[in-house]
Amino acid sequence: MEKRTCDVAIVGAGIIGVMVARELSKYQLSVAVIERESDVGMGQSTSNSAIIHSGHDPEPGTLKARFNVRGNKLWYQIAPELDIPLENSGALVVAVGAEEQDRLPALMEQGRENGVEGLEILSREETLEREPHLTPDVSGALSTPSAGVVDAFQGVLGAAENAAHNGVEFLLNTEVRGAIVENGTLRALETTSGTVEATWFINAAGVYADEVMHLAGDHPEFEISARRGEYFVFDENAFHVNTVLFPMPGKKGKGILVTTTTHGNTMIGPNSDYISDKEDHAVTQHGLNEIVAGATRLVPDASPRYVIATFAGVRATGNHHPDGHGRDFLVERSATVNGLINLAGIESPGYASAPAIAEYAVELLREAGVTLQEKPDWDPIRKRIPRFRDMSHPERANLVAGNPAFGRIVCRCEEVTEGEIVQAIHSPIPATSYDAIKRRTWLGAGRCQGSFDYPRTMEILARELGVSMTEITKKGPGSVFLYRQTKEEVI
Ligand SMILES: Cc1cc2nc3c(=O)[nH]c(=O)nc-3n(C[C@H](O)[C@H](O)[C@H](O)COP(=O)(O)OP(=O)(O)OC[C@H]3O[C@@H](n4cnc5c(N)ncnc54)[C@H](O)[C@@H]3O)c2cc1C
Repeated sequence: MEKRTCDVAIVGAGIIGVMVARELSKYQLSVAVIERESDVGMGQSTSNSAIIHSGHDPEPGTLKARFNVRGNKLWYQIAPELDIPLENSGALVVAVGAEEQDRLPALMEQGRENGVEGLEILSREETLEREPHLTPDVSGALSTPSAGVVDAFQGVLGAAENAAHNGVEFLLNTEVRGAIVENGTLRALETTSGTVEATWFINAAGVYADEVMHLAGDHPEFEISARRGEYFVFDENAFHVNTVLFPMPGKKGKGILVTTTTHGNTMIGPNSDYISDKEDHAVTQHGLNEIVAGATRLVPDASPRYVIATFAGVRATGNHHPDGHGRDFLVERSATVNGLINLAGIESPGYASAPAIAEYAVELLREAGVTLQEKPDWDPIRKRIPRFRDMSHPERANLVAGNPAFGRIVCRCEEVTEGEIVQAIHSPIPATSYDAIKRRTWLGAGRCQGSFDYPRTMEILARELGVSMTEITKKGPGSVFLYRQTKEEVI
């Protein structure tokens, strides 16, 4: 087994881990990201509502409130640098009936206390003018104009690719299984690819952050419960909303919303169910009924008739309750284990907060005495692979003239070309499975859900990776499509 040594090792390549990696890539440090999956962003960071919340919802005085408001501002700065689709759609918290209408001023006050700008209470008429699909029973809304919708996978990929471009090493298919602690200092992590020694370890392991911390002997009382949220995605040709529509918040959090997405589809969800298995991503009939009931209360058109996809994400709900506050993120330099920084219990609004949490993690290292010398050649810019579908005819012609592979359409619904697939395979965080290509290009995400493109994409993957078709997987080890050739002799 190999042994690696670096200055900082980050566990987890979700939005938190990759944002920290990008932030650290500005400095003269050797940084490695350890990720058990075959690709970045395969945890909760890409199975969520993809909303850059404004910060009106968290309880004032919490880390959630502080990082959400700061993260929201940073996202609008970072997204253009990393070519991440982010639309400043705004959001409405919709009141139905007099009781809910009466709660709007307190919600606005809470947002103002958190530092959210531009909040405004809209009348029934103003609300319906902005969102004609809303129920006629609407009585008003709180408008939060700084909210936005993001392409959640591109957010993770953009930060990861930029970090890799600036020297960060990504150890994929590598799971942390043990820790070596000497005299109260974390020296190394034992992984499925060998030992990783570092001076600092950053625990950004999502729903498993409690287990990683326990391996190092930290916070035995801290636990993460898995809380599942299910979703429905509508066909692009079904109804559209212009913004994010929240119901009034309730006991289960922000509630079931109806939202626009950067891909042009409308999406509804999530519900909130505590589950015993952190890997349980099942979509249930009960869950979907609950979502439809919640969504149609706001938008009567949100019927399941035009649904093309369903999915579920699992929230990392921790049990950290700082004095006098409700549940909060556990973001700290460990008080008991030297060399460990915990970024744990990062449930919503964790995606929106990620750039601010990353900024703070670097501050924690600075306070601990780490020398942070800036790299003179740090490059903040990352470009996505070209997207044939969105190009004008002259742009397409130009692209095809430079590389004929961009003239061969592999996915008909989403118009994804062979050129895009080949670039995804050879990108800074290489796409090595069918799903990895799908996440990068949106191939297979249209109405036919991949029926036409599967075999061709597998051929291209096999050719570019120099392996047999029987080695091509759907989503990494253990998910091959083909077991053997049909006419092969079986002994
Ligand atoms: C249903 C739902 C809706 C949400 N909606 C929003 C929203 O609209 N806006 C918002 O701001 N937030 C939202 N969130 C919250 C947001 O998605 C999370 O806060 C954020 O993604 C947390 O990122 P992370 O990097 O901590 O976790 P993850 O993305 O889960 O990443 C953790 C990574 O660590 C890896 N890992 C775990 N254990 C190990 C190990 N032992 N060794 C190596 N690797 C390991 C995992 O494979 C994973 O890739 C939502 C979450 C859910 C589930």
